[in-house]
Amino acid sequence: MEKKQNFFSVVLLGPPGSGKSAQALCLSKFFQLKHVDIGMELRKVAQEDTPQGKEIYNYMYKEHSLISDEIIENLLQNDICKRSECRRGIILDGAPRRIGQIERIEKILQKQEIPLLRVISLSVKKESLIKRIKHRYFCPRCFSFYIEGKDIQNAQKDLCPRCQYPLMKREDDTLEGVEKRLNIFEEETLPVIEEYRRKKILLEIDGDREGEIVCQNVYEQITLILREKEYENKNTSRN
Ligand code: ADP
Repeated sequence: MEKKQNFFSVVLLGPPGSGKSAQALCLSKFFQLKHVDIGMELRKVAQEDTPQGKEIYNYMYKEHSLISDEIIENLLQNDICKRSECRRGIILDGAPRRIGQIERIEKILQKQEIPLLRVISLSVKKESLIKRIKHRYFCPRCFSFYIEGKDIQNAQKDLCPRCQYPLMKREDDTLEGVEKRLNIFEEETLPVIEEYRRKKILLEIDGDREGEIVCQNVYEQITLILREKEYENKNTSRN
């Protein structure tokens, strides 16, 4: 039987365009944990013709603001964490993004016995973020992101390399949307990162490097933490 003691979750935070999703995907493969992209989960609900779908759509695409803490908590507790693929732990991409979400999210993970091990904060220069987002396209079928000029040559002509579907721009990836999201990140999410620094579970990572190098770097640091934890657990069970 799998030992629950070894189950854990990791949170990834960073400004829009910092590469959270790409890093979360890469880490989820290394650790064989489910990648949970809160933004993508919300985009799916925003497409639904329901009062909640309309509310989320309005926040995301019209106001470019954060969704309420209650909706995030409800989504994680009553939907995401109920999925069997999340039972060994998750790489949580994009939450908590506001101080009020910290305790709610940690409690849910604790209750599911997939406790929060570390929070990764990706930092990237503002010029690089704006440049990345300007050239960022996504596939509405498999939700993969690509940077034009790097991952694909021409977003108008090229199809999704994964599923051969036409690519499009995210509705909130306008200059106005990005500026607003960057301000929200500074006002609401930097205090969350500060809180995790205080709790001493923050890993600060330079995200202005090649994606594979960033991922390797995070992987090595988490692996080391897991080894130390295993060593501590062995010693406490012996005593
Ligand atoms: P980005 O990091 O580029 O803004 P995401 O896909 O992570 O992109 O998020 C898109 C949008 O989803 C955000 O602008 C916000 O409206 C909403 N969102 C995502 N995560 C959260 C969260 N933890 N709390 C509240 N709103 C969120």
